[in-house]
Amino acid sequence: PPETVASIGLIGNVLDALPRRGAAATKFDGGNVFVCGGSTGLTGAPSLASAAAARAGAGYVTVAVPAALNLVFELRQAEVMSVPLPDADGALVPDALAPLLSRLERADALVLGPGLGRAPATGEFARALAAQAPLPLLLDADGLNAHDERLELLAERNAPTVLTPHGGELARLLGVDSDAVRAQRLALAREAAKRSGAIVVLKGDDTLVVEPEGRVAVSRGDAPALATAGTGDVLSGTIGALLARGVEPFAAACAGVELHRRAGRIVGAEIGVEGAIAGDVVAALPTARRDGA
Ligand code: AMP
Ligand code: MG
Repeated sequence: PPETVASIGLIGNVLDALPRRGAAATKFDGGNVFVCGGSTGLTGAPSLASAAAARAGAGYVTVAVPAALNLVFELRQAEVMSVPLPDADGALVPDALAPLLSRLERADALVLGPGLGRAPATGEFARALAAQAPLPLLLDADGLNAHDERLELLAERNAPTVLTPHGGELARLLGVDSDAVRAQRLALAREAAKRSGAIVVLKGDDTLVVEPEGRVAVSRGDAPALATAGTGDVLSGTIGALLARGVEPFAAACAGVELHRRAGRIVGAEIGVEGAIAGDVVAALPTARRDGA
């Protein structure tokens, strides 16, 4: 494995390399992103992730959510469609798998996890979906938690996978304590990548992007406006949009982290670091993209 860690901003001008929307583009060229998540009390997370996917340039965005909560999503964002799925007590259950898989036939990437909740049946649903979804997958939040100490299940997938844990989530995935992650971020991110066969984005003030057997990149933390609830959901939607656009997964992860960081810098400068919220970061994504490449 390489000992040198390249700075993300320096990786082959990560934003310059992204595909651009040409003058004759249609919405079908932008990629079709599905975001699956949400549960009672946690509807904001999939809303932020889906809004971020649209602001990161996706052509189509759909949220797949517990049927009991569908009206929230119908009303919240005009640009995002919703698919109501079988639920129990406002959380998704294994019966949701078959109808969602049939809808995913027309999708280009799936973001699984924001606000899913931690009901055991929901975890079972998330594991089955991750195992069977035949398209690029980004797993975050409770989608990660469903794989605690079961990372090897992900190695069986036959499409690219990106994981976006913060330090606590990585510790639980590996069954180690958070102090261990603080002490050995790179080594443990790489271990998770090897065990899952996935690209691992280990979030924090500095964010690492690690391939199972290869490249490592770091984004230096200079965007403290991002230190607020919901910004992780914004990152998951951002990377999901780039995966849907067909960007190779390591490049999509690096470019997503860089766009998110730049959006955080813009928000810090224009609104203020103290009191900026995740929705402000969503709104800044197009400017981060325009001015970055
Ligand atoms: P989460 O922990 O899932 O809510 O995600 C938080 C997001 O904000 C991640 O993308 C972090 O990398 C980013 N973030 C949090 N705190 C900071 C900070 N002090 N500086 C830069 N980025 C941060
Ligand atoms: Mg999070």
